[in-house]
Amino acid sequence: MSASHIVFLMYHELELAGRKLCQSEPGYVRYILPVDTFRSQIAWLKQSNWRGLNVTQALAYPAGPAVCITFDDGCETDLIAAAPVLREFGYNATFYLAAGFLGTPGYLHPDQVRELDAQGFEIGCHSMTHPYLSDLSAAELKREIVDAKLKIEQILGHTIRHFSCPGGRYDQRTLEVACKAGFATVANSEFHANSAGTSLYKLGRIAMLRDLNLEAFAALCEGRGLWKKRLQHNARRGVQRAVGNRTYDHLRSVILREPNE
Ligand SMILES: [Zn+2]
Repeated sequence: MSASHIVFLMYHELELAGRKLCQSEPGYVRYILPVDTFRSQIAWLKQSNWRGLNVTQALAYPAGPAVCITFDDGCETDLIAAAPVLREFGYNATFYLAAGFLGTPGYLHPDQVRELDAQGFEIGCHSMTHPYLSDLSAAELKREIVDAKLKIEQILGHTIRHFSCPGGRYDQRTLEVACKAGFATVANSEFHANSAGTSLYKLGRIAMLRDLNLEAFAALCEGRGLWKKRLQHNARRGVQRAVGNRTYDHLRSVILREPNE
């Protein structure tokens, strides 16, 4: 990736031996990396002289190879699995939290959110209850974006600036509400690297999948093959728009149970 383009990586919960995941459906588990896989990716980045940045740092688009590291949902493994690896290698990251999940089983407790913040990591918002934002009424959008921001800010005692969309779904209203709420950026899960020319409200991110090998990981960080992923992604979004989010999710859960998928 040239100096002016940075790939934003999107992680979720990490798997620790003997610890139950927050959810068990195949559609969820395919985004869950064992902590050792995550560690080997971060170790490869370090060894290859890449920098690992949070969103604010990445938006300065520093020269030299760098990735932006982000986590969605606010699982407890952000603090107990991801943070220790990141600190070991001197990397930062942005943790986008679903405000309404905090303090429930498997997710960060407010004290743990403060701990992540105190360790120097960046905290962002990932809605209140994790709905597809493009499906919501104006009142629901306010709760999911404005109220969620306030809730996290009350826990931290300072403002937050970054928002990520659950399931990557958003529309123009979503972006307007986020902007009015005071979010400086909105990240989705579209397959493109970002640069100074990218809209701050349409930051693309690359989902890290469980079965991604180190070679494929390296290619993604370098921005190779993103166009292929983008085509697949756009085809998927086309089907989602045609059949609706709910039907699509049902179809997907059926398909993912097939042994060959
Ligand atoms: Zn999420």
